[in-house]
Amino acid sequence: MRKLSTLLLLALALLGPVLAPAQTLKVTLLGTGAPIPNIERFGPSILVEAGPTKLLFDCGRGVSQRLWQLRIPLGTVNTVFFTHLHSDHVVGFPDLWLTGWLPGVYGRRATPLRLFGPAGTQAMAAALKQAYAWDLGVRADQGPPSAGATVAATDIAAGVVFEQDGVRVTAFEVAHGEHLKPAFGYRVDYAGRSVVLSGDTGFSENLIRAAQGTDLLVHEVAAARPELLRASETARQILSYHTLPEDAARVFNRVKPRLAVYSHIVLLTTDPAVPPPAAAELLPRTRATYAGPLELGEDLMTIEIGPEFAVRRFVPVKR
Ligand SMILES: [Zn+2]
Repeated sequence: MRKLSTLLLLALALLGPVLAPAQTLKVTLLGTGAPIPNIERFGPSILVEAGPTKLLFDCGRGVSQRLWQLRIPLGTVNTVFFTHLHSDHVVGFPDLWLTGWLPGVYGRRATPLRLFGPAGTQAMAAALKQAYAWDLGVRADQGPPSAGATVAATDIAAGVVFEQDGVRVTAFEVAHGEHLKPAFGYRVDYAGRSVVLSGDTGFSENLIRAAQGTDLLVHEVAAARPELLRASETARQILSYHTLPEDAARVFNRVKPRLAVYSHIVLLTTDPAVPPPAAAELLPRTRATYAGPLELGEDLMTIEIGPEFAVRRFVPVKR
């Protein structure tokens, strides 16, 4: 009997790594754009799947469509973090919240939606409840569980803001301009793997500190044509809150991630006579001084950090 149990333990020890679900950190760029209402690049939003735990960072325009392109029911995404409250980062939230509560297969949220963000997040959630009071009232009579319509909002400060099922989320302040405070970046740690999301920021020493040792660094980037920058104070000011491709190279050289990926791609124009720069110009400008692995993000690009480290682009499937 003793021999049998020893054998059983031995077999379990050998099979363990095969039987246990892979502890993979999976990052999907749902939207890689900025305020520009572009059909190719939806508003900023990143899904991080740490094993079975789904975390959503920012809710830009089109977040619900992108999730459903992946056939991820909106009602299964129950934990949301805002980097800051600029409208391009939050405008998709009411859609995710309310459509995710509907009884259709794309919705079915039955538990409260947890929302974490900088000061002002709780007030925004309360105001949205007011704004959608009519919808919340009439649909409550039609049957979806009322808990699914609840937003449990928390105003956070820098530090560990979420710890559950082996997943730790740490918020850190970034440099998005003196009058745009607070603005956060986030680091997610899970099973010895990690991803850092810059949020909106200029060159940030604090980000470099928080990102040390990370596998994946998803960083914003912004550019405009030189003639626009010479002529427009507004354009110069906007770019001062963001990171130029050359400055991103300085960040990547200090952090040395296994992979750096651009998302929240700002190709600025404020003058109809001056076209925006092409996205294809961004990587060469960074690579002039940075030789490490670097990708230009695109909507629905997935980066898997697990037994293998893989970057996949979305291939639409007819269903
Ligand atoms: Zn912003």
